[in-house]
Amino acid sequence: TTSRFQGKTAVVTGAGSGIGRASALRFAEEGANVVVADVVEETGRETVRLIEEGGGNATFVDVDVSDSESVQRMVDTAVDTYGSLDFAHNNAGILTGFAEVTDVAEEQWDKLLDVNLKGVWTCMKAELPVMEAQGSGAIVNTASEAGLVGMGGLSSYSASKHGVVGLTKTVGLEYASREIRVNAVAPGPTNTNIQSSVGGSGGNPESMPFDTSAMVDVPMDRVAEPEEIAGAVVFLCSSDASYITGHTLPVDGGQAAD
Ligand code: NAD
Repeated sequence: TTSRFQGKTAVVTGAGSGIGRASALRFAEEGANVVVADVVEETGRETVRLIEEGGGNATFVDVDVSDSESVQRMVDTAVDTYGSLDFAHNNAGILTGFAEVTDVAEEQWDKLLDVNLKGVWTCMKAELPVMEAQGSGAIVNTASEAGLVGMGGLSSYSASKHGVVGLTKTVGLEYASREIRVNAVAPGPTNTNIQSSVGGSGGNPESMPFDTSAMVDVPMDRVAEPEEIAGAVVFLCSSDASYITGHTLPVDGGQAAD
């Protein structure tokens, strides 16, 4: 790998697992200092250990993205520790059980929107002033295939991810003339720990009265590995993407083209 991000600093939320961990490792491989942010300390610290083992620099910060004070601490840590904040991958997200819209509990709706949508806003709100003061920066939010099409049984999740796509478009426009690019990735089904959270809340797609095949029907006939999403994230942060802003890039084995 090249060292195109040498001397740069990246923050990654949800970096203790799955796509966030893969992205944190990839930023470090390319030379960036990485602030590893997660609500679970043990796995976050494990990501830091893996980065340091590979010769990179990383710091863990305990963050709940739905809590703007902890998010501000994350941004302060990046600046205090490494002197800048060049890239942000706002990736933390949760998936609760499959349920028809009338069966979604209010607490579940609120919690999911707080983490998946408000959490992207809190991050950008804290990151953008630092990037603007520096005169450069690139942000990538993690949306989802469910931010591009409807998915039966996932109303709150789909609403949150459509929200991330809209937020990305709007903030991309707001900062387009200020040397800051804002994009998103929309992963298709990816081999991470997120599915277990669905099982954990009692949902079982097999037993649902609606078609959940959109989630597993992939033209490439396989799910993605988290590293394949991370590749798109670093591309969107790199100077190769210097004229791309406000967009959501599907990384989905062709799903959105189907
Ligand atoms: P994952 O469960 O493996 O990792 C998510 C990480 O986010 C975990 O380490 C978790 O502790 C952390 N997290 C959860 N809530 C948090 C909070 N409030 N504050 C900070 N960290 C928090 O899941 P993943 O699949 O890697 O998910 C990453 C992102 O990718 C999510 O936004 C998810 O919606 C999105 N996504 C995943 C898939 C997929 O199939 N895996 C598909 C499309 C989009």
